Amino acid sequence: MAIDKQAGRLGVNLPSWEDIVDRAYRLRLSLPKGRSLPDNVWQRRHKGIIVLLWLHVVGLTIFGLVMGTERIHLLAEVGFLALLTFVAQKAPYSPRARACIATTALMVSSALFTHLSGGYIEIHFHFFIMLSVIGLYQDWLPFGLSLSWVLLHHGVAGAIDPGSVFNHPDALLHPWKWAGIHALFVAGASVVNVIAWKLNEERAMRDSLTGLPSAALLADHTERALARRERSGKAVSVLFIDLDGFKTINDRYGHGMGDQLLMQVGQRLTSCLRAGDACGRIGGDEFGVLLEDHQNEMTAVLVAERILASLREPMMLHGREIGIDSSIGIANATEGDRAEDLLRNADAAMYVAKKDGRGRVQVYEPSLHQTVLERLDLVAELKHAIDFHEFELYYQPIVSLDGGHVGGVEALIRWQHPARGLIGPLTFIPVAEESGVIVEIGRWVLTEACAQLRRWLDEAGDIPLTLSVNISARQLQDDSLVEDVTRALMNSAIEPERLVLEITESVFMGDLDTVLDRLVRLKDIGVRLALDDFGTGYSSLGYLNRFPIDIIKIDKTFVDRIEGTADTDGLVEAIIHLSKNFGLATVAEGIEDEHQAERLATLGCLHGQGFLWSRPVPADEISEVLARKLPTPLKDSA
Ligand code: C2E
Ligand code: MG
Ligand code: MG
Repeated sequence: MAIDKQAGRLGVNLPSWEDIVDRAYRLRLSLPKGRSLPDNVWQRRHKGIIVLLWLHVVGLTIFGLVMGTERIHLLAEVGFLALLTFVAQKAPYSPRARACIATTALMVSSALFTHLSGGYIEIHFHFFIMLSVIGLYQDWLPFGLSLSWVLLHHGVAGAIDPGSVFNHPDALLHPWKWAGIHALFVAGASVVNVIAWKLNEERAMRDSLTGLPSAALLADHTERALARRERSGKAVSVLFIDLDGFKTINDRYGHGMGDQLLMQVGQRLTSCLRAGDACGRIGGDEFGVLLEDHQNEMTAVLVAERILASLREPMMLHGREIGIDSSIGIANATEGDRAEDLLRNADAAMYVAKKDGRGRVQVYEPSLHQTVLERLDLVAELKHAIDFHEFELYYQPIVSLDGGHVGGVEALIRWQHPARGLIGPLTFIPVAEESGVIVEIGRWVLTEACAQLRRWLDEAGDIPLTLSVNISARQLQDDSLVEDVTRALMNSAIEPERLVLEITESVFMGDLDTVLDRLVRLKDIGVRLALDDFGTGYSSLGYLNRFPIDIIKIDKTFVDRIEGTADTDGLVEAIIHLSKNFGLATVAEGIEDEHQAERLATLGCLHGQGFLWSRPVPADEISEVLARKLPTPLKDSA
């Protein structure tokens, strides 16, 4: 404060202490990070330096002999250098410690060379060359050590015994002046080295495939943005983006196609951002986006939604149309956050977004960490739940709206968890999908449901009962599905026409050609396909034409809105109308009261399913439901 006042009086604007700290911090951020070398690169460089050192041991011995150095001195000096080289080469120390020892050895070589030459001035160039060699470690510790050595040698040794360092008369008279001149050269060489090092690091910090910054560089940008935020107070957010189903595309079509997709994703991401924002590839199919200086935290959500929409737009890859869903986690910077905190939090939020189903955005809150931990437990438990017979199938009747009879049942999975009791599918199916366990669970559901239908048919005779089984998008991507369905039908001797496979619109994300191929092969077996939760997805009409769907299940959200007026029921009416035009049957889901059933029947919907008739019940209770007289809206209302 006192200094500031004085400076003001003198008319000089001295920077404040905060300014100095701030500038120093920014300078630190713009310097190379150090130790960013991959292990194998470090090993190669270190090996090269060791070879160089052994060459020095031999070369300096010869040079000493030629210069007529006293043998015993020469032996002690070169012996010391050889010892250092040996330790740097063989000692079981950390890479960094070995780099420091090699650095010392290189500096000793330079000092020895200068000394053996009797302080011959041009020999000093050797120091500058060694400085560049040490720069190859790209590590501040050896680099700083080499600078200290030069300082120690020129400054201290040069002042105490100028003859051993400088051999011309002026230097002997003014050793500090010459130490200064050499210091300037060392400083110049150091700056050039550091710049080269920084450029090298930055190139290494770019993802070679997409050309986007790597995770390390993005973290670097984030760190700087956080430093600027301290002053400007404007929002800084990090988005963590993970592509859904990327692995399948990669496995199926090979890495070439996967790489193409990643490159296009990179371009789409960039096109969704403003000039000042940054995006990078964190690894695999994960990307990160840094948003800076935006108005408020809602902006981050808007950008995330823009990214989701943009990635969904089909991309042309090797003549195939591929749209991809993604899950996005957002972390907004709060006081004291470091870049790594933000990235970790955005990652945790992404995890939760994925758990809640694909194609979602989730903003980080501290409570999410608990959720992430629980989720990891869940995956582990799901893996052995099949072996421990913890899954059970419940069945819900599907009723014909004009006759009131049960035409089919839908199998709905439940998890009898040893500690938590009965768990519904919405809690664990998304996790099972994301972790891939769903493929095995789905196989069990198919086998068990078909076996159950066989038992009912054996008990009740050849009644016209169909079985609906839910198939998740992940199962459809798996090669084994068609085979699993065939086997389940064969083992239980069920006619394929009795089986309805329910898929949701989410299957239309990803590689559409494969989806079409799978569905056609399933149809070839003779099973029917239903589009579940119709109207809740983002695709809809176009797919009805293109894919071999037989049944549309109108989602509960539409049924809930039915109030009997043209305004409220228009949408359901349109769906029913449309289905008829496409030659599809309709089933309305989640019917809870007679009024809804009645209205749906009037609108031309053929079948219904809901608590009005029955909740999903265990297999042994279904015969009772089948026997019960169910409300039949048309007859009742007539
Ligand atoms: P979904 O296939 O659309 O199944 C209908 C869901 O709506 C069931 O929930 C059912 O209990 C519920 N529901 C039926 N009628 C009514 C009603 O009148 N009112 C209300 N409020 N709800 C009704 P659930 O059993 O919790 O299943 C939820 C979802 O989990 C299913 O939706 C399906 O997408 C998925 N799922 C269930 N079992 C399986 C399975 O074996 N495999 C796969 N991949 N997914 C499954
Ligand atoms: Mg269903
Ligand atoms: Mg449904």
